[in-house]
Amino acid sequence: MKYLDFYKYLKGMNKQVLLLNQDSTPLNIITISKAFKLISRDKVWGDVSDEFIEVVSVSKTIKIPKILILKYYVKLPYKKASASRQNILKRDQYCCQYCGKEMNNKDATIDHIIPTSKGGASSWVNMVASCRECNLFKGSKTPKEAKMVLKNRPKEPSYGFLFESMLITFRKKK
Ligand SMILES: [Zn+2]
Repeated sequence: MKYLDFYKYLKGMNKQVLLLNQDSTPLNIITISKAFKLISRDKVWGDVSDEFIEVVSVSKTIKIPKILILKYYVKLPYKKASASRQNILKRDQYCCQYCGKEMNNKDATIDHIIPTSKGGASSWVNMVASCRECNLFKGSKTPKEAKMVLKNRPKEPSYGFLFESMLITFRKKK
């Protein structure tokens, strides 16, 4: 099998590899075909854990490490996590920030602390996870007006937060 055919074969596989920066900090989750490309170009080492994904094709069997480390250092640009519904819910761990009730993805709503009608922004610091009851009760009032107290002061999460949720996705797919 030629390199290109084999590359195509890998592309069809639904497998992922964890890519670490030269200093061993997590960088990205990449597809197995991208991992193969990096290995072929001598840009990465396998990590010490010795865990492999075995790829068996017509003409050859190759082992691709599940964790790869770059041979050079990539400087990361500061990456901001978007204040999406999913990211807000993850940050607040699916707990209503007013009554503390645990919610699932379906029941959870997003509350604008300062309502949009009063000029509140759709930002990390102005949005929290809220159960329907609390959200309905609060309506278009501020927490002070509604006499409600937030459990936590909403903050913008760090890059690590994004990576953590990425890693969870990676583990699920294995
Ligand atoms: Zn609630």
